[in-house]
Amino acid sequence: MPPHDEIDSTARIAQELIRFDTTNYGEGRSNGETDAAEYLGALLEGLGLTTDYVDAATGRTSVIARVPGRNPSKPALVVHGHTDVVPADPTNWTVDPFGGTIRDGMLWGRGAVDMKNMDAMIVTALQEILGSGRQPERELIVAFFSDEENGGVFGSHYVVDHRPELFAGATEAISEVGGYSVHLNGQRSYLLQTGEKALVWIKLVARGTAAHGSRVIRDNAVTKLARAVAAIGSREWPVQLTATTEQLLGELARIMDVDPHRVGPDELVLSTGTAAGFIQATLRTTSNPTLLKAGYKHNVIPDTAEALIDIRTLAGEEDAVLEEIRELIGDDIEIVVMHRDIGLENTFDGPLVDAMVGALGAHDPGAPVLPYLLSGGTDNKALAKLGIRGYGFAPLQLPAELDFPGMFHGVDERVPLDALVFGRRVLTDLLLTY
Ligand SMILES: [Zn+2]
Repeated sequence: MPPHDEIDSTARIAQELIRFDTTNYGEGRSNGETDAAEYLGALLEGLGLTTDYVDAATGRTSVIARVPGRNPSKPALVVHGHTDVVPADPTNWTVDPFGGTIRDGMLWGRGAVDMKNMDAMIVTALQEILGSGRQPERELIVAFFSDEENGGVFGSHYVVDHRPELFAGATEAISEVGGYSVHLNGQRSYLLQTGEKALVWIKLVARGTAAHGSRVIRDNAVTKLARAVAAIGSREWPVQLTATTEQLLGELARIMDVDPHRVGPDELVLSTGTAAGFIQATLRTTSNPTLLKAGYKHNVIPDTAEALIDIRTLAGEEDAVLEEIRELIGDDIEIVVMHRDIGLENTFDGPLVDAMVGALGAHDPGAPVLPYLLSGGTDNKALAKLGIRGYGFAPLQLPAELDFPGMFHGVDERVPLDALVFGRRVLTDLLLTY
């Protein structure tokens, strides 16, 4: 490993962020984000900025700062990241997930792509701008949120609900999972995230008769639950295109050189290779069982059995999909909605889109930039409650052989060091000019 001062500043800050174990286990259980928030806050304060810390609960700290712009007639832009990460099981990893290892030209660790990389890019872009005596074109509201990985209940939603004045004057936002490159038919192209699917997280509860495991019991909670889980998990949801996915498919067909009237959406998307990992789930609803809980002893039939299901629908389809799930599993199983959040969809045009496309084009001339919907969700959902339009723009230029979609919440999460430098430069240009 090279000594500290030989590592680029963006990689170094991302590395230090990875070393804060900010694991978010969900359902309010978390290692907390306070240390990471204070570390980022100190870097912002080092640039002469005033920070606001918001604690949604003990250890659940978000930090927000305003950066004055050159042009006060323009509305403010929110530039945000989250500091929490999903759990990592070290036994599956080749490196310590919280070690911040640098190896083979990459930074390894939980959060390397989701999204301590972008947190570091935001801070170092500001260091580059303010450190050289310049100012961003418009006022920026920089926010590092806690709890994004569990829907932002103790993060963005809390801050937006309790401190909305921190975002006064902002109309647009940029954050994670967009602006990165994918290789399509040998052509490096960029996916810019212009919308997000909605999410509905439900719990199924099956009830039956508790009894000795040797008896004849038809009213078995585990059997009932298993039937419902299998029905939901194997449901084939139909393709449902929106303006964004239609535009994306048209562009994909052109780049992949296929006739969209002869090749179906799924086939077209699968032909893109690893990029399909980002796109396939945006064509339809998905409903994945993710957790099962029942029983306590081999020879005791339990009276309840529970399952968690992660449902992602297109914007506005949430209630219709819940209705279909209800029909699919029957009235015997209780459905508890644990958490839900809206979908978002912006058109692929306007000054901010032009500026993001332009900033990528300045650093990778001629590379196509395509709009896409995110199958997951981000803190942009919370900001949407304030009328702030959010996009995914954490620019990275990536090698063709890296399975980038597989890095998100994956084992051996890692990011090329030179992709971080690329990202900081593109982001710096955007903030200076937009
Ligand atoms: Zn994320």
